[in-house]
Amino acid sequence: MSILVVGTVAFDSIETPFGVAERILGGSASYFALAASYFAPVRIVGVIGRDFPQEYLDLFTQRSIDLEGLKKERGETFHWRGKYHEDINVRDTLELHLNVLSGFVPQLPESYRDAEYVFLGNIDPAMQIEVLNQIRHMRLVVCDTMDHWIRESSKELRAVLKRIEMLVVNDSEARLLSGQNNIVRAARAILKMGPEVVLIKRGEYGVLQFSDSSIFATPAYPLEEVFDPTGAGDSFAGGFLGQLARSGDHSQRGIRRAIAYGSVVASFTVEDFGVKRLTNVSLSDIEERYQGFAQLTDFHT
Ligand code: AMP
Repeated sequence: MSILVVGTVAFDSIETPFGVAERILGGSASYFALAASYFAPVRIVGVIGRDFPQEYLDLFTQRSIDLEGLKKERGETFHWRGKYHEDINVRDTLELHLNVLSGFVPQLPESYRDAEYVFLGNIDPAMQIEVLNQIRHMRLVVCDTMDHWIRESSKELRAVLKRIEMLVVNDSEARLLSGQNNIVRAARAILKMGPEVVLIKRGEYGVLQFSDSSIFATPAYPLEEVFDPTGAGDSFAGGFLGQLARSGDHSQRGIRRAIAYGSVVASFTVEDFGVKRLTNVSLSDIEERYQGFAQLTDFHT
């Protein structure tokens, strides 16, 4: 079962309390695709500029990620600059250059139109709709968004929410989208907007999952050192949807296991800058940490 992702493929410039990195590979689609590639074949829809280096493309092809839908346009690649505080859960966006992403209209290659698992990464909801319109048959669509789109493109985002099965947001985005301060009420209000499942990411505190019939909570995998949290959310989504595609199990039990896989993959991502750790982990490392995670959260055997 292959997975289609649309999102940013970016240059990231990052400062954390542990160091700095200039113009390294980043973007929501990049983290998602690399994370999901441990579980299922992945296809990327996105855009890069002529300045995008071959060595970054090689990182995708080494993981057998299909790049036919990744367009190279004249101009510069999307560039994001962010800085993390001493409290690593807090980050500021210092610069955001859309570059080739502004005005980009996704065009899916014919071979992508039968995608069954779809991840709508954090981009303009109008682009997310464009992608949905071009897919013939979908089994499961998971969507991410951010405060900017909740504020500026509320109508388009509401239209997206009616067409997806699952939404992944962080707690402040859930509050903003719903207008509810209490996180349980916020999730209930979002469920009424369309998705059957809402996943709320709470950084180092883990993930809450809501559906009409259940609530599930997990911690994040506890690490002694977090070097760079960039991409944790997208890696979580990649591990999560990757596992759902691999297992085909969309039951509550299957979703819970997928949440654990997502958390495990995200925990590898944050251990080093950018995609460094995510590209040199192995599936057996992931499985081993998954078993450890199961023991960590087991209080009832
Ligand atoms: P996260 O998983 O939330 O840490 O996502 C981090 C990634 O999002 C970075 O690699 C950035 O390149 C990308 N990013 C930052 N701002 C935006 C934005 N406004 N739209 C799309 N992608 C973004």
